[in-house]
Amino acid sequence: MNMQRILDDIAAEMAAEIDRGKVADYIPQLAHVNPNQFGIAVATPDGQVYAAGDADTLFSIQSISKVFTLTIALGKLGDALWTHVGREPSGDPFNSIMILESESGRPRNPFINAGAIAVVDAIMMGHEPKEILAEILRFVHFIADDDSIRFDHKVAASEMAHKDRNAALAHFMKAFGRLEHDVDKVLGTYFHQCSIAMTCQQLAHAGLFLVSNGMNEHTGVRVINAERARRINSLMMMCGHYDGSGEFAYLVGLPGKSGVGGGILTIAPGKGAIAVWSPGLDHVGNSKLGLKALQRLVEKTGWSVFST
Ligand code: GLN
Repeated sequence: MNMQRILDDIAAEMAAEIDRGKVADYIPQLAHVNPNQFGIAVATPDGQVYAAGDADTLFSIQSISKVFTLTIALGKLGDALWTHVGREPSGDPFNSIMILESESGRPRNPFINAGAIAVVDAIMMGHEPKEILAEILRFVHFIADDDSIRFDHKVAASEMAHKDRNAALAHFMKAFGRLEHDVDKVLGTYFHQCSIAMTCQQLAHAGLFLVSNGMNEHTGVRVINAERARRINSLMMMCGHYDGSGEFAYLVGLPGKSGVGGGILTIAPGKGAIAVWSPGLDHVGNSKLGLKALQRLVEKTGWSVFST
C-alpha cells in the first residue's frame, strides 16, 4: 500500500470539492478561518508520518481536546470518573441541555460539552486553572512528542466572551450539585483546552498511543494501559461525533473525535492515527470534507474496524 499516494489523491480530490460546509461562527475567532483549506496526516506505529494538503497548518483542535482530558481524568480518578459523567451516546447536539434535566445534571458522555465540562471540573481537584492547563499542555507535549504546541489565547478569549450556552450547561450542572468548582474557573479551563492549536501532523502523532494499546510502539513509551486505550476508543466510536456518531460509524467505521475547528482525529487500531482538517462543517458540526476524506481513506486502505 502506498500511503503517500493515497493521501495525495485524497487531497487532490478534496481540493476540487465545491460544497465545503460552513465554518463555525458562534466562536467569532473561528469565523475568520479560510474554508478553502484541507489537510490530512497519517502516523503509523513504525514512526512514519505521511501528510498531504495543509497538514502543516495550525488549527483549533476544539473538542478533539476532550479525548486528552478524558485520558488525564481516567488516570487521576480511575473508574470514579463515571460518577461524574456517563458513557452512553446522547443522540443530541454537542451543546444540548435537554438530557441534563431528565438525568439530574449528569452528562451522558465525556464528549458532549456538558460532559467535557464535568471532566475538567473533576480533574481540577481544588487546583487553580493555571496548574490544570499546564498539566493538560504537558500531556499533549508528551503524546505528540512536541513541546512547541500552545494554547491560542485569542480563541479562548473569544469563546469566553460568547460563553452563554456553555455557561448555561455549567450552571445547570452546578445547580444539581454536579460541579465542585467555580463555574467561570471551570469554563476558563475548558475554553483554553479547546483552544489548543495543532497541525494534522502533530495531531496524528498525538493519537498514536490509542493505535497501539496505550503505547507509542516506535518509542516504546507507554501512556496508558491497554484496557483503558480500548475503552477510550470505544467511547470515540459511540460518542465522538455527537448526533453524527452513528453516521460516522456507518460511513467510516473507526473511533474518531471531531471538533468545530474542522479537525477529526481517527484511530485505526494497530494500523495508524489519522488527523484530517477542513474548517467547513456539516449540519451537526463535524468537518464536511473531513468525513468525506476519511470515507475515501477507509475505502482505499480497508482500515475499518468492521472489516478484515
Ligand atoms: N469549544 C467548543 C464549544 O464549547 C467545542 C465544541 C466542539 O468542538 N464541538 O462549543
